[in-house]
Amino acid sequence: MNPAQEHEAILETVRRLCAGFPGEYWRARDRERTYPTEFVQALTEAGLLGVLIPESYGGSGLGLSAAAAILEEIHASGCNAAAVHAQMYTMGTVLRHGSEAQKSQWLPKIASGEVRLQAFGVTEPGAGTDTTALTTQAVRKGDSYVINGQKVWISRAEHSDLMVLLARTTPREETVKKTEGLSVFLLDMREAVGRGLTIKPIRTMFNHATTELFFDDLEIPASCLIGEEGKGFRYILDGMNAERILIAAECIGDGRWFVDKARDYASSRVVFGRPIGQNQGVQFPIARAYAQVRAAKLMTYEAAARYEAGEPSGEEANMAKLLASEASWAAADMCIQTHGGFGFAEEYDVERKFRETRLYQVAPISTNLILAYLAEHVLGLPRSY
Ligand SMILES: Cc1cc2nc3c(=O)[nH]c(=O)nc-3n(C[C@H](O)[C@H](O)[C@H](O)COP(=O)(O)OP(=O)(O)OC[C@H]3O[C@@H](n4cnc5c(N)ncnc54)[C@H](O)[C@@H]3O)c2cc1C
Repeated sequence: MNPAQEHEAILETVRRLCAGFPGEYWRARDRERTYPTEFVQALTEAGLLGVLIPESYGGSGLGLSAAAAILEEIHASGCNAAAVHAQMYTMGTVLRHGSEAQKSQWLPKIASGEVRLQAFGVTEPGAGTDTTALTTQAVRKGDSYVINGQKVWISRAEHSDLMVLLARTTPREETVKKTEGLSVFLLDMREAVGRGLTIKPIRTMFNHATTELFFDDLEIPASCLIGEEGKGFRYILDGMNAERILIAAECIGDGRWFVDKARDYASSRVVFGRPIGQNQGVQFPIARAYAQVRAAKLMTYEAAARYEAGEPSGEEANMAKLLASEASWAAADMCIQTHGGFGFAEEYDVERKFRETRLYQVAPISTNLILAYLAEHVLGLPRSY
């Protein structure tokens, strides 16, 4: 079987699985702000969340483009992978920098779904875009680290067993470079909640299971440290290109969904005795959105191919995330306009997807910071911050 056919077989599985989770399912989760547990379970049982885990640890050992294609198809089917996507990219930190003992303890369980690694703890109230300003500290005490501090916007923390956490092990003023002195931990939240870790949900404009975390003298085994102490910022950076490519793929899926939905509605809605899609004022925005999504898709899979080949992919991964998040948002806006008043009705799912796809221009990194990266690192312009 060649790689294209292999993808197609996986995508057929994704489509079949997603057909079991139609709009009503997502509307109910959205209304109640509940986690799509059944959907996550179905993806896990189908082996779709372990595609990036090597076969030797119980996964499928596929490349990033397979993972991107899966996330794209989930979104193009009207579902939402935000409940599960972090498992794909946070797992890479453990895989690349964890010890053999950590990998053999956790990766097979993550691949089988016995444990979930869905929480990624980086952002703090005073440290969003400027990650190195984070102040949550982990202080070594014998065979333990004691953690104090606060995190915000940590998604899926209530539905995850493990969390990859970034904390300061050396105060910023004692380091030569501000990127030094940060460390990564793989924390078992089942043992931490109630023993120094408190999780508080944040209600947002869409269903994202995001939370605030409070650490109050939480003691964790020193064996939770991933890699070397003080090198955590580099480890997190290593995973960012993969994260951007996977998020871009979700945007492409959203964009495809909006275009299909708008095309179908424009073909069937009759006003002044003819389908609204016969008017150029209605069909051109749909055609434009289609072209924008297709163009962003080319960049996304070019980035994925470079990443898989071990070539530098920062430029392409950043451009993919920029173009795809803008294309999905433009398609969302077009889709509302095409539907007229019905775009605002819950039962059409358009307003829900519209709210969901807006996030990607802000998180996991905002558009301005991508533009700053391109300006400075690709075009050689002076650093702006
Ligand atoms: C729903 C949701 C889920 C999230 N999930 C997670 C998660 O699971 N884990 C996690 O760690 N984080 C998570 N985040 C946090 C997310 O990564 C941050 O919100 C994001 O990095 C931006 O940080 P901030 O919100 O503090 O914005 P700020 O850093 O305060 O920035 C505000 C605005 O100013 C702009 N800006 C700032 N500095 C500059 C500059 N120098 N030049 C130009 N513009 C600038 C930014 O682009 C942004 O538009 C989530 C956020 C949301 C909303």
